[in-house]
Amino acid sequence: MAGQLQRVSDDGPVPCALCGAEAAGPCARCRKPVCGDCCVLTEGGSKLWAICTTCDARGGRSLAPGWAIVLSWIALPIVVLAVVVVALAWRSR
Ligand SMILES: [Zn+2]
Ligand SMILES: [Zn+2]
Repeated sequence: MAGQLQRVSDDGPVPCALCGAEAAGPCARCRKPVCGDCCVLTEGGSKLWAICTTCDARGGRSLAPGWAIVLSWIALPIVVLAVVVVALAWRSR
């Protein structure tokens, strides 16, 4: 350990983002390197994808990207607001 820093290089094995073991490949959704133990296979169209267990727990086994979830968070208050506006308009009659 003579001042040797742990370098992230292209030729060395990429550590798994979850457990630190040698990664098998990047997650299809968040692009984090994951090993075989920390990923699950999911079907995206006709192709099989490997996604990390974090993404699997977060968004099920669909390949819907994060923005779709964010979009639903934005859309929900708009729908609630629209219902409130309609209810108020109906009450004011
Ligand atoms: Zn792992
Ligand atoms: Zn992931």
